[in-house]
Amino acid sequence: MIQIKNSAQIALMREAGRITGEAIVLAGEAVKEGVSTKHLDDIIHDHITKCGARPSFLGYGGFPGSACISVNDEVIHGIPSKNKILKEGDIVKIDVGAFYKGFHGDSCNTFAVGNVSDEAKRLIEAAKTSFEAGIKMAMPGNRLGDVGFAIESVVRKYGFSVVRQYVGHGIGKDLHEDPNVPNYGTPGHGVKLCKGMALAIEPMVNAGTHEVYVLPDGWTVKTKDGKLSAHYEHTNILTDDGVISTTKVN
Ligand code: MG
Ligand code: MG
Repeated sequence: MIQIKNSAQIALMREAGRITGEAIVLAGEAVKEGVSTKHLDDIIHDHITKCGARPSFLGYGGFPGSACISVNDEVIHGIPSKNKILKEGDIVKIDVGAFYKGFHGDSCNTFAVGNVSDEAKRLIEAAKTSFEAGIKMAMPGNRLGDVGFAIESVVRKYGFSVVRQYVGHGIGKDLHEDPNVPNYGTPGHGVKLCKGMALAIEPMVNAGTHEVYVLPDGWTVKTKDGKLSAHYEHTNILTDDGVISTTKVN
């Protein structure tokens, strides 16, 4: 069932979102060659707990990190590790959730480590611009298919593919709520959007095939062809006056 948020709940979600967004910015500033993904995770954990919040992902289904940190052909759910050291040319996805006063924020951004390939730059751009195209369609009266179609249309123009096996989601008191928010769809189809809905919209964009698989660690999702993947996500609340992206801090 889709949970509609009232104004008091939206205010709390904005606080959870701000903490989430700040943690990503701080970790992003620390991205450089020689840094471990565990170091980034520590920065995120410190910021979230310092704010009086809790990392949403820590212990979720047994996940061992505070953030999901995925490098290059890892799409999502990478486990932070002190043995995973960033190197020049990598792209790193930092996906963070924070739980504060009963509500979650969820956001992800993809960062370049030093100089990256032109394809990597275009991939990062495609994830962000497809998100923005999706957000433009996220308004009361439209349907989820309008959002997904807008996202996939942009990604296809770049010549890339959207992951289909994993999708965005409703968010609020629970990290994952109804409805599913696919990054593909048919205009005019799907759940009708209305004010008070909170949706994590999160294009996962692959340079090659959309197909993915899970590593034996049970978490890390990788592209099947070993090509790069980028991810961009914000938590968004639909209002009559437009969309509030709670996790956008800059
Ligand atoms: Mg996320
Ligand atoms: Mg999410």
